[in-house]
Amino acid sequence: MLLPKTLQSLSTTQRDNIATTISDMLIDEGIAAGLVDIVFGHYFVYVLLSDGVLIPVFLYEERMSYKQFQSYGAPKLHFCHCSEIKQDFCAQQRHHTLTHRHYLAKITKCNAFSFSIWQGASQVGLYNDYPLELCAACSDILSEIREGQRIDSTLSVFVFKNESFHLLQANPSFLQKELIAFQVAGLECYKCKQKITLDSQIWIQINGNHLQVCCC
Ligand SMILES: [Zn+2]
Ligand SMILES: [Zn+2]
Ligand SMILES: [Zn+2]
Ligand SMILES: [Zn+2]
Repeated sequence: MLLPKTLQSLSTTQRDNIATTISDMLIDEGIAAGLVDIVFGHYFVYVLLSDGVLIPVFLYEERMSYKQFQSYGAPKLHFCHCSEIKQDFCAQQRHHTLTHRHYLAKITKCNAFSFSIWQGASQVGLYNDYPLELCAACSDILSEIREGQRIDSTLSVFVFKNESFHLLQANPSFLQKELIAFQVAGLECYKCKQKITLDSQIWIQINGNHLQVCCC
């Protein structure tokens, strides 16, 4: 895990390198939510890799209090901008969440996550390669987006293919909502680097596991 300082110093190096470094870190061990720019779509959650380039991520709490663990069990795995994520990352709550909770952004193709349980300053539990339950609210959102499309795999198999955001392209009204969320997210066009606003006409290009927001 890199420290904030490391990420800061990275920003002086080549843009392309940063994007690769961030996506490698997201794949290897994940990055604390407070150390990356998280962009909330209407449906999905992304990390900003460079101007206008987004990669969809999972979010989960990699550290929990013993109390929290006793009441709710292992952390739930979020893969959509669900009600719980909305609540924890809304303008009023975001700072508190980033200060007191330990959300990790991660990319993975298998359901094997690490998290630890804490009582005050002491770690009382550590789970490695642990399969997490999918967040129910996220599952509802993805089921809605999948509805009416030809998909053979179960929801959980599908989730770990990391291709959920491809579904948006098949449905103009879903895509439109995601694009509106991007218009108000303070992004820049990946090509011309101009600031994207509600007045911008934008579209997305899917490039491997990430998407590029474009205005020109
Ligand atoms: Zn690992
Ligand atoms: Zn969720
Ligand atoms: Zn606080
Ligand atoms: Zn542009």
